[in-house]
Amino acid sequence: MARYTGAVCRLCRREGTKLFLKGTKCTSDRCPIEKRNFPPGQHGKDRKAKIVGYGLQLHEKQKAKRIYFTLEGQFRAYYEKANRAQGVTGELLIQQLERRLDNVAYRFGFAISRRQARQVVRHGHVQVNGKKVNIPSYQVNVGDVIAIREEAKKHVIIEQSAQYAAQNPVPAWIDVDFTNLSGRVLSLPGRKDVNLPVNEQLIVELYSK
Ligand code: SF4
Repeated sequence: MARYTGAVCRLCRREGTKLFLKGTKCTSDRCPIEKRNFPPGQHGKDRKAKIVGYGLQLHEKQKAKRIYFTLEGQFRAYYEKANRAQGVTGELLIQQLERRLDNVAYRFGFAISRRQARQVVRHGHVQVNGKKVNIPSYQVNVGDVIAIREEAKKHVIIEQSAQYAAQNPVPAWIDVDFTNLSGRVLSLPGRKDVNLPVNEQLIVELYSK
C-alpha cells in the first residue's frame, strides 16, 4: 500500500480527534477539528453511527499508524515483535513506535511534526553517535546521542522548530540541548511518557484474533 500523501487534516477529521500531524497549526484555532469535527466528505455531517467492537479496534490501529506515518506491514511487524517480547504487548508496541528515529527527531524538536521530521531524517540531516543515519524507522537505544549534522544546523526549518520546541516541555526519557541541536536518550519511553490519544490494548485485541 502506498504512503498517504493527501491532506493530513482529513485524517484527524476521519478519526474524530486531533492526531497532531501539522505542528503549530494543531494547537492553534486554525485546526479544522475545532470548527469541523465531523468526517470529511459530502455526507460527513450525517454519519453519526457509534463505532464499537471490531470497528473501534480498527480505528485505534489506524490512528496509531497515522500518527507515526507507518504502513501496515511495518506496523504489524512492530506488533509481532512486541508480542514475542516479555512485558505488556501494547506498551511495547508504543515503545517501538516512539523509538523510531523520525519520531525521536520530532521529540528533540528538530521538526515541528513527525512528517517533517521524517523528511529531516531522509535528507540525511541527523546523526546518531556521530554517524549519519537516514532511515526513519531506525530504532534508537538508551545512551544514543542524536544530533543535527553540522552542515544542517543553519537550516531554517530546523532552527525555527528548535526555537519553538525549546519553549515546551521535553519528555523525561530524553535530554536535549536546543542550542547545539543535540541530545541523548536517557531511557526507553514508558507508556506514561507518551501522551497519545490511542488505546493500544484495542490494537492488541485486533491483532490477536
Ligand atoms: Fe490538522 Fe493538526 Fe488539527 Fe489534525 S490536529 S486537524 S493535523 S491541524
